[in-house]
Amino acid sequence: MTNRTAHPIEKFAREAFAAGWALSGGPMTERVRTACETAVLIATEAADDPDVLKATIDLGKLEGMWALLFQRREEQQARHAAEVRALWRDLADRDDIAALVDRLRHQLGVFEARSPEQRRLRDDVLAAARAMLRALADRSGFTALRIALRNAIAAGRAEGVVNAVAIAAERAGRIGLDWNLAFKDAYQAMERLDDLWADAGSWLSRMIDGVADDLGRTLADGLEASLDRDALIDAAGELLTGDTEAVAFTVDWAMTTAADEGALALYRSEGVLQIDIISAGDGRVCSSCIDAEAGSPWHIGDQPRMPLHPACRCCYSADVSLAHFASWFL
Ligand SMILES: [Zn+2]
Repeated sequence: MTNRTAHPIEKFAREAFAAGWALSGGPMTERVRTACETAVLIATEAADDPDVLKATIDLGKLEGMWALLFQRREEQQARHAAEVRALWRDLADRDDIAALVDRLRHQLGVFEARSPEQRRLRDDVLAAARAMLRALADRSGFTALRIALRNAIAAGRAEGVVNAVAIAAERAGRIGLDWNLAFKDAYQAMERLDDLWADAGSWLSRMIDGVADDLGRTLADGLEASLDRDALIDAAGELLTGDTEAVAFTVDWAMTTAADEGALALYRSEGVLQIDIISAGDGRVCSSCIDAEAGSPWHIGDQPRMPLHPACRCCYSADVSLAHFASWFL
């Protein structure tokens, strides 16, 4: 416990931050709580400044907006990843996996690989896993997967547009954005975009390769550990029915990329010339993100392509005229 007497402005600063946060409509998160403590501290140090409480309200609004933005993205990514994962579950049945395992065991003969051989074994197993998954790609299940990915990308782009408007509104001090209404509107506009299908196709390829890597690794490990046929089939089946990281990883990456593309498309259509990059400050920020932020503002077109790495949450930020988006505000 501290013996420090509370500065008289503390209570008011806390209320001011909370009022700003409430205006944002954002969730209460650990990050918002920490930001509140920082804002209160700043307020006590600048207690003589007549605008200090107004500035504290603004900080609350800003933190609330970011909390809402990240929460919406996380929720959407989790939902779409779950849908795509469920479709994977139906793709490969036990017969497919058994056939793959039998082919591998036949190809490799008795397994007694030593180090030089081992590398080749892993390559062979990986190639076989890829071939199996690519062969499955002809089946109808992949149509459903492609549709699910296309929808995920459309949602990502729409959210990116909404986020760009939310950030611009925050920069302009405009409150009252109806995020859900804006999302619905932006998502509908995506229906006309044909390039979403091309995007979905290339993300699906990446996903197949990612799952094939996981599957190949599981099978190679199993062969090295001299698992019998049934145990190998079980291990591969378990991976394909839900344990593979590659699916959520790829959906996450695809949707973040789509969100950044959505924001960029909006900036271009609104004639924005300069954009900033804001790092997410979430422990996943790498040095290239920090450099991208430090290099701001960027002339549009010269900025680094976000996301800079998978699971990157850093964002573009720019001033945008809100005139075209008046119907999204209450
Ligand atoms: Zn980043």
